[in-house]
Amino acid sequence: MSATLDLDEAERTRILAKAALFAPPPALLADGRRDLVGMSRAELGEAVASIGEAAFRAKQLWHWIYHQGVTDFAAMANIAKPLREKLADHFVIGRPGVAADQLSSDDTRKMLFRFRDNETVETVYIPDVTEDRGAVCISSQVGCTLSCRFCHTGTQRLTRNLSAAEIVGQFMAMRDAYGEWPSPKGDTPRLLSTIVMMGMGEPLYNYKNVATAMKIIMDGEGIGLSRRRITLSTSGVVPMMDRCGTELGVNLAVSLHAVRDEVRDVIVPLNRKYNIAELIAACRRYPAASNARRITFEYVMLKGINDSEADARELVRLIAGIPAKVNLIPFNPWPGSTYATSSGNAIHRFAAIVMNAGYAAPVRTPRGRDILAACGQLKSAMAPAA
Ligand code: SAH
Ligand code: SF4
Repeated sequence: MSATLDLDEAERTRILAKAALFAPPPALLADGRRDLVGMSRAELGEAVASIGEAAFRAKQLWHWIYHQGVTDFAAMANIAKPLREKLADHFVIGRPGVAADQLSSDDTRKMLFRFRDNETVETVYIPDVTEDRGAVCISSQVGCTLSCRFCHTGTQRLTRNLSAAEIVGQFMAMRDAYGEWPSPKGDTPRLLSTIVMMGMGEPLYNYKNVATAMKIIMDGEGIGLSRRRITLSTSGVVPMMDRCGTELGVNLAVSLHAVRDEVRDVIVPLNRKYNIAELIAACRRYPAASNARRITFEYVMLKGINDSEADARELVRLIAGIPAKVNLIPFNPWPGSTYATSSGNAIHRFAAIVMNAGYAAPVRTPRGRDILAACGQLKSAMAPAA
């Protein structure tokens, strides 16, 4: 037992060290000012102390930055003008730049955000079709190392990890775009009410920055999204899953996609490192899973590859006893992709077997396909010229 834990610890150290090799540039402007966005509360306290100001200023700044969403020190009404000017001399409240902004015919909206070093990622807002709210799908890396065969992002080499500022910044810039900060009248945001870490990249390969960002977003004196409203999707980085559950307690989505190692080894190559049995064992241990908060298994439906009735039966056997639901995702094609979406019949037969075993098995309606905004279609790319 302890030997296994030691091995896991060694593996975690290795994963975190590798992430550091792809570290983002420091949050510093050319003029030497530092970006306050993305700092943990402790770091913000240190930044305030570094200019000789009292600790309570950090609390005030936190409120303005994350609760009110202001980007200009001049708007901070409870801070006297000389101090506001001093803050502006040393710091900025940053946002990513908007390099492209596209609206789908189904109202899904995709933004291409540009950071200070000109790297870009995509972020998607997916409005709920029945209710007046929606989910923001956030990226964690520029590109991805994992090369899942059905995924567009997987064709883009990893350039670097995103910083905590860039992860939180995607959500804040989306809120800006929808005017979704609390108004002085006391109206609270409604639309951008859920976060899914399902954009570009593998969040558990950039764990440290993702964790800092999620803690900022969950902080009750700021954005204040509950961990129940955040779902992190992983392709199966087993050693980091326990840590994510204990430290963040967010909902977990697992990109399973195949129930036999021979198949998963090919379509999700990370399986050669952490196989299906290890992945399922980590799901069983996931601390934040319960009947009220089920693990989501994502299963992309690929014609003739993973969509047989035998696959569905094996899936049910594998996940027996885990509080779970299974999201069946019709494959979303992208330029150059070689797979086909399973037929409607195959998907419904598959879903029926999973549902008969007592699991919810919704078939995900593709959203934003016309602007390449659906699952697995994201890439750092400008829209083709019209
Ligand atoms: N890297 C993480 C999160 C981002 S991907 C992960 O892999 O879980 C979000 C989801 O979209 C994953 O389940 C992914 O496997 C799925 N996906 C990738 N390409 C897809 C495609 N072309 N069609 C449908 N789903 C896809
Ligand atoms: Fe990376 Fe996830 Fe795409 Fe796989 S599915 S290549 S892990 S972004």
